[in-house]
Amino acid sequence: MRVRNLSRRRFLGGAAATAAFPLATRAVGAREGATCEAAGVDCGAVATGSDGMVVSVSPAASEVGAQVLRSGGNAVDAAVAVQFALTVTQPHSSGIGGGGFMLYYDAEADDVEIVNSRERAPAGADPEMFLDDGEPIPFDERHTHGDAIGVPGTPSGLELAAERYGSLPIEELIDPAISLAEATEVDRYLAERIVEDEWKFNDAAREVFLPDGEPLAEGDPLEQPDLADTLRLMRDRGIREFYEGEIARAIADAVGEAGGSMTFEDLCRYGATVDEPVEGDYRGAEVYSMPPPSSGGLTVIQILNLLEGFDLGETYDVRSGTKYHLLAEAMRLAYADRAEYMGDPEFVDVPTEGLLDPDYVAGRRELIGPDSLNEEPEAGDPWAYQSGGAASASRPTERAVGETTHFTVADSEGNLVSYTTTIEQLFGSGIMVPEYGFMLNNELTDFDAEPGGANEVQPNKRPLSSMSPTIMARDGEPFLTVGSPGGPTIITSVVQAILHHVEYDLPLAGAIDEPSIYAPESPAIQLWEEGIPEEAREEAADLGNEWGDEPGPIGNVNMLRANDDYEGAADPTRDGLAVGLGER
Ligand code: GLU
Repeated sequence: MRVRNLSRRRFLGGAAATAAFPLATRAVGAREGATCEAAGVDCGAVATGSDGMVVSVSPAASEVGAQVLRSGGNAVDAAVAVQFALTVTQPHSSGIGGGGFMLYYDAEADDVEIVNSRERAPAGADPEMFLDDGEPIPFDERHTHGDAIGVPGTPSGLELAAERYGSLPIEELIDPAISLAEATEVDRYLAERIVEDEWKFNDAAREVFLPDGEPLAEGDPLEQPDLADTLRLMRDRGIREFYEGEIARAIADAVGEAGGSMTFEDLCRYGATVDEPVEGDYRGAEVYSMPPPSSGGLTVIQILNLLEGFDLGETYDVRSGTKYHLLAEAMRLAYADRAEYMGDPEFVDVPTEGLLDPDYVAGRRELIGPDSLNEEPEAGDPWAYQSGGAASASRPTERAVGETTHFTVADSEGNLVSYTTTIEQLFGSGIMVPEYGFMLNNELTDFDAEPGGANEVQPNKRPLSSMSPTIMARDGEPFLTVGSPGGPTIITSVVQAILHHVEYDLPLAGAIDEPSIYAPESPAIQLWEEGIPEEAREEAADLGNEWGDEPGPIGNVNMLRANDDYEGAADPTRDGLAVGLGER
């Protein structure tokens, strides 16, 4: 079982941030709930609130969101401010140099929409750009090259979300991030990651993260004056400055310097889109999640629907070997479909309806048994369950599990945001835009390195994602948001958080803490978390499953439950903080 870190760290990380949020300064240094209460909030790894909730991996960013809600902003206003703040406090996993998917439940319209800010390949991208002599370039080389950098989508997505759903001017939502960029504090995870990843930093990144040649340590001040200036430019000249002004020129230069083809024109062309969610049912609840170009929503819903036929909660203990076996078998079948059929829908036909068709899923379920293991799970034929063309098979190549971040916001009107946001690998490409202070993603490594499949590289295309920001509702009333980082493990982390909460009735924190597995291929259970009993592992091994050697944490789930009030829960594997507003 993972250990829950009960000591909550600072609300806001630095003096400048403190000055920006006088109310929150009373919580600075607070290690006890009493101080949170004095600040008018309930905060911790788990928190409740009647008027609003913010859960993010970064205490400072959560507080920024809470402050926006307190000052009358709605859930989208708060989410936009949180994302700008995460650029500053989580430069290793999120930021304006990346992309993401914001799922938004609009209480008045009673509708779920998505702001899709996925990065795009530049016009000069080539299906063979990740090959050398016909072979995939090794991942470490590929992911730090300029070719890996997609046209960033996050600023455009934030602008679109603020215009379409927000109530405050976006300039006001950038200000807290500017304060944080002047001084915040290095957290535990960032300190660890600087040590791990400094090998790939360019000079600009080294100056920020190893200012005297030594990696910044936990608690050190993190000063990002160039980033503060970039945010000021976006505030004062507008977000398009990022795409059509001096920031765009600096990005194109930095990418060109690293060997990539991205041009100023590629940046000028970028615009985030508003998409419809993919919808499914699970245990009488509606599931809204991210459609292609993410594989997330379809795969999450398919796995849940495959498992629904086994009545897991009634039949198997949450830590029984057969439960892990059935879960692994459902994952393997769903990942086979994922690899075969999924890609950017602007470029390939994806059999979205067929993949979730109850008859199709029932047929696939027949391939799963509590006493048998599929040695070579293959993709099915979802096209037989809907009309349309056939996408060609994807060719998955070695791809490391990256890290990103998921956060969630609720406001007093019942609006909900479930937002997963990324720069792909930790610190993305390792390239910080010189003099502008933000990291560039390496999202294009989410394409298959080998051409010919649904997810091959093509100019202006969006790489296949696994990000799965999800909202669930019962009888039209939303009751849960969930999401996680972790590359392809995002899907299985989200599935298991839902399974543990909805099927096994665990409270949010218990659902997050309950050990999970990741098994996209047979017969391996490639990743598994501490706490799975030895007998359960033996039982699953007797059925033919092969457990990876060592347990380790998977993902970083943040969840929110909405009933009469809100409850938020942050995964204790990092320093996440839930902040609830209003009466407890
Ligand atoms: N690039 C990943 C995806 O879009 C997200 C980053 C990660 O967590 O690996 O699925």
